[in-house]
Amino acid sequence: MNKMSIRKDDTVIVLSGKDKGKQGKVLNVLPKESKVVVEGVNVVSRHTKPRKQGDQGGIIKKEAPIYACKVQKVCPKCNKPTRIGHKVEGDKKVRICKKCGAEI
Ligand SMILES: [Zn+2]
Repeated sequence: MNKMSIRKDDTVIVLSGKDKGKQGKVLNVLPKESKVVVEGVNVVSRHTKPRKQGDQGGIIKKEAPIYACKVQKVCPKCNKPTRIGHKVEGDKKVRICKKCGAEI
């Protein structure tokens, strides 16, 4: 159960948490943890130490994974956040938008 319908490169909207309402592209999907990494969402800063003398060190900003259930795909056709339906066409399964019925 709880199969992930979100895929890499999908545009998703965040439904809850501090980034609620933000939209971004899925950079990575972690099916085992039911998590996704979304561009610009849940960004954490990490300070890096200078590796050698004279080196500045700095802050690396990186997206941390969030639970996939906290995001919803934005349909590229009707531009609305939507649940994903599935349809079998021949021997392949396609994803469809529950709002407008477009193949997504
Ligand atoms: Zn749609």
